[in-house]
Amino acid sequence: MMRLHDTMTREKRPFVPLNPQRITMYVCGPTVYGRAHIGNARPAVVFDTLARLIRHEFGENSLVYARNVTDVDDKIIAAAEAEGVDPSVITQRYERFYLEDMGALGVRPPDIAPHATQEIAAMTAMIERLIAHGNAYEAQGHVLFHVPSDPDYGVLSRRDREAMLAGARVEVAPYKRDPADFVLWKPSAEGVVGWDSPWGRGRPGWHVECSAMIERHLGETIDIHGGGLDLIFPHHENEIAQSRCAHGGLPLARFWVHNGFVDMGSEKMSKSLGNIITPAELLAQGHKGETLRLALLSAHYRKPLPWTEGLVARIKVTLDGWYRILERFWDEYQAAPIGKQHVDELFQDALTDDLNTPAAIARLNGMLNFLASSAIPHATITQDGAEIETKQVQRDWLVRIKSASSLLGVLQADPEAWFRGDAGSDAIEARIIQRTEAKQARDFATADRIRDELKAEGIVLEDGPLGTTWRRE
Ligand SMILES: [Zn+2]
Repeated sequence: MMRLHDTMTREKRPFVPLNPQRITMYVCGPTVYGRAHIGNARPAVVFDTLARLIRHEFGENSLVYARNVTDVDDKIIAAAEAEGVDPSVITQRYERFYLEDMGALGVRPPDIAPHATQEIAAMTAMIERLIAHGNAYEAQGHVLFHVPSDPDYGVLSRRDREAMLAGARVEVAPYKRDPADFVLWKPSAEGVVGWDSPWGRGRPGWHVECSAMIERHLGETIDIHGGGLDLIFPHHENEIAQSRCAHGGLPLARFWVHNGFVDMGSEKMSKSLGNIITPAELLAQGHKGETLRLALLSAHYRKPLPWTEGLVARIKVTLDGWYRILERFWDEYQAAPIGKQHVDELFQDALTDDLNTPAAIARLNGMLNFLASSAIPHATITQDGAEIETKQVQRDWLVRIKSASSLLGVLQADPEAWFRGDAGSDAIEARIIQRTEAKQARDFATADRIRDELKAEGIVLEDGPLGTTWRRE
């Protein structure tokens, strides 16, 4: 039985899906105007691991996982203006980077990746319904959600009105009936991206995007809604208000799952604080995607994760040790079957207990050590029976290790490739991506510097119509 912590009730409960053949999970995805930092990667890795566990527990086709792409937003518009390009240039570039960075961390793409700009009709339809129900109103080209129209507003974050107003950093505007009211639709000035609507040419607010996409792709009530802790208020509170008021009071999600922050020792990692580190930078430094993934899973997902060089170094040592053990059994490991019946019970208990990845990692480490010690030759091995028994014990551990590592998304490389050195292909690819990014931003000095640095290491780049390839001199 899988148990999950629900932020709404503040407790761990058995996870019983509404329909085990079609479990629905929605996670708030990236706003694509800049490179993802390692804090942004945490929900991607955590919910990828949860998706793997759900498919393992309920069947490969049991889950529909949606993660949206916010591709219309004031920050995107500002970035496009700064570069003098169309917003779609910015959003396509950074969505591609996002998928590449997360792919390097072993994050599989979600089943559905709805884009805000493709879902305007669903959003305007929901806004019209909210106006008709008396939950929203039009004022000076804006449509606002009227917070006092929803008596249950604040149920997720459990904040009082004073704290909500302070936390939302609400904009004071003369057209608002209540200071807490939030934007569903706002007008677009001439030359700014916008769509025709019953309220004039404009664009949607951020919160309504998720409510409309969930309704359209997953349904009125979903099993799991996920995201970072920072989204609880106001974003998820607003999603709840919109969806519940549009759906006659039906709950939006049965489980609210939130991951904690990645911090830099004492402070939260954030773009505004200027203390971010990106997976792209870490990969370019020679760290491997699996190292970053395991580091992100090394703390329980609800706890803060202090990101330090020491953490990354410690995880690298762990993975090196695991690969050293595995390379002795590589052929048998590759041949080992995978599946629900092969998973180790203690490992499964850890993961199904609210995705307790630290306990699961400790158990995987234990299993690898058992495997390693099973190979120590001793006196009885000369007897046929004992030797067979040893082989059987090893096979048993290998099968369990393989299922466990595929659930965590680690030990997926060939040990030989893993040990080929820190200047492995991951690092080269990451630097090629940095160079492409620099070229697109017309920062040719940086692009040339990266090409020259690689050349000094004996790596030759070849630019072609399908992108850049590399070879060793
Ligand atoms: Zn959202």
